[in-house]
Amino acid sequence: MMEFTGHHIVITGASSGIGEATAEHVAALGARVTLLARRADRLEALAARLGAPAQWQAVDVADEDALGAALDAAVAQAGPIDGLFLNAGTGGTFAPAEAYPPDAFARVLAVNLLAPFHAVARVLPVMKARRRGAILVTGSLASERGMANNVAYVASKHAVLGLARAIALEAAPFGVRCNCVVPGFIETEMLSGLPHDALQQLAAKVPQGRTGSAQELAAVAAFLLSDAASHVTGQSIAVDGGLLGTLTV
Ligand code: NDP
Repeated sequence: MMEFTGHHIVITGASSGIGEATAEHVAALGARVTLLARRADRLEALAARLGAPAQWQAVDVADEDALGAALDAAVAQAGPIDGLFLNAGTGGTFAPAEAYPPDAFARVLAVNLLAPFHAVARVLPVMKARRRGAILVTGSLASERGMANNVAYVASKHAVLGLARAIALEAAPFGVRCNCVVPGFIETEMLSGLPHDALQQLAAKVPQGRTGSAQELAAVAAFLLSDAASHVTGQSIAVDGGLLGTLTV
C-alpha cells in the first residue's frame, strides 16, 4: 500500500502543475514535504494549504550553490530526504538549431539537466549511507523522441533520462532507486499558453483522445517515490494516454 507517514519528500518545481499536484498527493498520504521553486508566493500558499508539515524555499535550481544550500536547509529542518522529485523544468525557445541562441541553450541545460545532476550529487551520499531513498526525475516525450526547432529541450530531456538510468545503476546496490516519469500532454502552465485549437489538436493525437491532468501524473510520481515501488528502478514510465505506444509521435 502506498503511504508516506514519516517520509520527507523534496519536490522541485513545486509552485505549479505537476510538482504542486504531487506535493498535494504525498502530503495527503502523510509526507513531510519541502517545496522548491522560484515563486515564493505560490510556495507559501501551497504550504499553508497542504495542512501537513510543509516547508518551502524560493530558489532558482540553476544556481548550483543556492540549490545545494536549499537542500541542506531542507534536511536541517525536516530530516534526511526519503524522496527527491527533480521536476523543475523549462521549455526554452523554438528555433532551428543553427539559430538557437547559445545562452538560451545553456539555460535550458542548466535547469533541466545540470540542476538534477547537482541535486543528486548532494543528496545521494546520505541516501546510500542510510540504504534508503527514491529519486525521480521528470522527463518528457522529448526524452524518447526528437522534435524539430526544440533542440535544447530535446537534448536536455534525453540527457535527464540518461542521468536517471546511470544513477539507478550506481545506487541500486545501496538500496536507493532512481526513475524517470514521462508526461505526455499534461494540462499545466506549460501548455496553458497554447490556443484552444492547438490544445485540441494535441489531444486528438493521444490514443485516449484527451490531454492528461497534473493529478494523473502525480499519482504515478507518488507511486515511484513510495516504498510500494521498492523493486522499480532505472525505469522510464510514461503518463501519456498511450502516445508513446503509437507510430506517430
Ligand atoms: P509548470 O510550468 O506548471 O511547472 C514548472 C515548474 O518548474 C514550476 O514550478 C516552476 O516554478 C519550476 N521552475 C522552472 N524553472 C525553474 C528554475 N529555474 N528554478 C526553480 N524552479 C523552476 O509545468 P509542468 O508542471 O508541466 O512542468 C513540470 C515538469 O514537467 C517540467 O520538467 C516539464 O519539462 C515537464 N513536462 C511537462 C509536460 C506537460 O505537458 N505539462 C510535458 C513534458 C514534460 P517557478 O516558475 O516558480 O520557478
